[in-house]
Amino acid sequence: MSLKDRILIVEDENSIRHFIETVLVSNNYEAIVARTGTEAYSMITSRCPDLVLLDLGLPDMDGLAIIKMVREWSQLPIVVVSARMHERDKVAALDMGADDYMTKPFGPSELLARIRTALRHAKGGDTRSDVAQTGRYQVADLVIDYDKHQVFVSDANVRLTQNEYKIVALLGRHAGKVITYDYLLKAIWGPGLEGNNQILRVNMANIRRKIEKNPAEPEYIFTEAGVGYRLREEE
Ligand code: CA
Repeated sequence: MSLKDRILIVEDENSIRHFIETVLVSNNYEAIVARTGTEAYSMITSRCPDLVLLDLGLPDMDGLAIIKMVREWSQLPIVVVSARMHERDKVAALDMGADDYMTKPFGPSELLARIRTALRHAKGGDTRSDVAQTGRYQVADLVIDYDKHQVFVSDANVRLTQNEYKIVALLGRHAGKVITYDYLLKAIWGPGLEGNNQILRVNMANIRRKIEKNPAEPEYIFTEAGVGYRLREEE
């Protein structure tokens, strides 16, 4: 008998909550539910869920407030589930410490994939343990060598500039997770460039020309439109 991961579903819309609950229970998760932000916060503190699926539009508060409160004391994985199409909400949620987001409507396979990824990241810590142990990150034919500060594709050194390397290195440390444009800008160029996505786009175009077979259909670095970039992770 194995211990089931307990997932808190925070959602005020009955049909969506029931849908998620059914999917989780039939896939061997323990599901607990909250309909309001107040209820959600009290369940997070009393029932110790392993992961929270959080709707941002709650009747009594903005879901972002819950992320903020939880992040003051816990790295509990939070996957934002939102009907809002506004990209700034997703970005705000990620910058506040949410681990991932899904936009409604979504199907069972996407839901389960996001949950597996977030749980795996939570168990591995914030920075990938494989990178910490080996000094390398590898996915398919791409290798980031953190000791040499070099990136290889099919054993060939792709010769990135310093900033290009820094971008790829940072994405690799958080492979599988979406990293927002502002987070990258601040990490590579320092504060003051927030919102200047053009410089990032230019660098990314160069990186893709060097590492992707077809830069228009990337295999390694994916764009999350309006939000950021995600480096591929081996499932
Ligand atoms: Ca809602």
